[in-house]
Amino acid sequence: MYRTHTCGELRLSDTGKKVRLAGWVQRIRKFGKMTFVDLRDRYGITQLVFAEAINQRLDQHPLNREYVIQAEGRVVERSNKNPHLPTGDIELLVEQFEVLNEAKTPPFTIEEETDGGDDLRMKYRFLDLRRPPLQRNLWLRYQVARAVREYLDEQGFMDIETPFLIKSTPEGARDFVVPSRMNPHQFYALPQSPQTFKQLLMVSGFDRYYQIVRCFRDEDLRADRQPEFTQIDCEMSFVEQEDVLHIFEGMMRHVFRRVKGIDLPNPFPRMSWEEAMWNYGNDKPDLRFEMLLQNLKVRHKLYCEALHQTGFGVLDQAETVMAIVVPGAATYTRKQVDELTEWVKRPQIGMQGLLYVRCLADGSLKSSADKYFTPDRLAQLQQFCQAHPGDLILILAGKEDKTRKAAAELRLEMGNRLGLRSKEEFKPLWVIDFPLFEYSEEESLPGSVGRWVARHHPFTAPKPEHIAQMVENSPLILPGTDYQDHPYAKIKANAYDMVINGQEIGGGSIRIYQRDLQEKMFTALGLSAEEARQKFGFLLGAFEYGAPPHGGIAFGFDRLCAILGGSDTIRDFIAFPKNNAGRDVMLDAPSPLDEAQLKELHICLRKDQHEN
Ligand code: ASP
Repeated sequence: MYRTHTCGELRLSDTGKKVRLAGWVQRIRKFGKMTFVDLRDRYGITQLVFAEAINQRLDQHPLNREYVIQAEGRVVERSNKNPHLPTGDIELLVEQFEVLNEAKTPPFTIEEETDGGDDLRMKYRFLDLRRPPLQRNLWLRYQVARAVREYLDEQGFMDIETPFLIKSTPEGARDFVVPSRMNPHQFYALPQSPQTFKQLLMVSGFDRYYQIVRCFRDEDLRADRQPEFTQIDCEMSFVEQEDVLHIFEGMMRHVFRRVKGIDLPNPFPRMSWEEAMWNYGNDKPDLRFEMLLQNLKVRHKLYCEALHQTGFGVLDQAETVMAIVVPGAATYTRKQVDELTEWVKRPQIGMQGLLYVRCLADGSLKSSADKYFTPDRLAQLQQFCQAHPGDLILILAGKEDKTRKAAAELRLEMGNRLGLRSKEEFKPLWVIDFPLFEYSEEESLPGSVGRWVARHHPFTAPKPEHIAQMVENSPLILPGTDYQDHPYAKIKANAYDMVINGQEIGGGSIRIYQRDLQEKMFTALGLSAEEARQKFGFLLGAFEYGAPPHGGIAFGFDRLCAILGGSDTIRDFIAFPKNNAGRDVMLDAPSPLDEAQLKELHICLRKDQHEN
């Protein structure tokens, strides 16, 4: 028997017991004729004491960091207790020990805090994973998965696997592809999600399906994404939006209660997409703090009279002017305000500048554009924004989309600076009533400026009262017209996102289940009947054999774990993640194939310009 206990288990009540432990040597300290060793396994750390007699053996077989050893002896009370360790009241007085395996000196310290840089730790991920923080993260991940399964099982959901070698799926990213040896010159695609399969399972009668499943998307890896990530993928039949929201906020409440002991609100608040965009500037509002966006002027429509013909070109010509009121920040120094101005001018934000109005404690108002802002205008502005003495009003002006986005970012930044975004607080909500379509400038159809793309995916159902609007109007956006005036711009979908603390945690929709409506949807997206048949013939065909009404949702499992673990990076919650360039630096993948393998796959490599 290698061990009788784990390294996290022994307590004062165990004193006197003869035990055996096994684990990794974390630290060695010598004091005269005594040696102290911290022995670690995934359960904790126990101090081993090598007293005089056995110490001599230790001199003959010196230990080193990360050696795997087994030690036997008696549990004794420590004279000098360590209150920071659960095992800190005791130590193991070693009578015998054995080195089970030696270890090279690891390239970084394997402790709570490490001295290893990112790249090194990725290369030696198996060592990094020995560190307590990563051990805790993977444990948390397992807990979350377990809680999800527990709840869904209780609700009658069935876990059904779907294939990885498939045909392209339409989640809007690029596919990873796999060459087929048996079918020369043909390729599988890896699923961006099991979307079409779960819909087919509904046609097959499995009315409550789920899967904790890997998805693959070949995207640029900015913003903490991974090329392969995990979803909690779910689908239900004979449901309306209300049923789906009810079941899945229940799931999230269960997970938070089980994993964190936290009760999320019941029910979750809901907000329409329009309201979220108007008040928060994006579709994933962080509700941990207020600081709502103030819409002073939107697409040239004036909401705040203070901006009426100010004579200041920046404001008068801007399509949109927005403000936020930062509580208690009127005392910001010139330097602090300059720094914020630089912040909004960064390329990621891209604004020209930042105006401000200080609402001073004595009730007076002082702006950075006093020449144009008369006292009357300032008072109007203060009233419109409901700013109080002591507050700082920050104003952005420019094109609608950019300004709204910048104001949303500035709000979050000020939330950070004021410490209003605690990782201990969780504010979930549903964002509902999303637009069915999104306008894309990059692509276009013949005779159209730009084109409509599915905001969620092409299987999302329009709201019943908006179906006619879709069916009866052509998708073409005629030159000289504004896409916002097109009837498609107003069509809403039965689509919903679950948002927690400003992060989209899950998204789904009620689906189209009638063949003719699905075909109309493809037409609206500019797919010819032939293309639609070629790409999605299997689904359209299945819809002819009695498809039930259905809907579902998928949650970003890695992201959910990161939020529960109070981290911003999903990578910390994935055992073997890729780096920012999509590489596994431990395996050194991707890597070239040898000639024989290429030949077998009928692949001949093209020399690209960058290789020459
Ligand atoms: N398949 C969708 C996605 O991956 C989720 C869903 O509609 O259920 O975003």
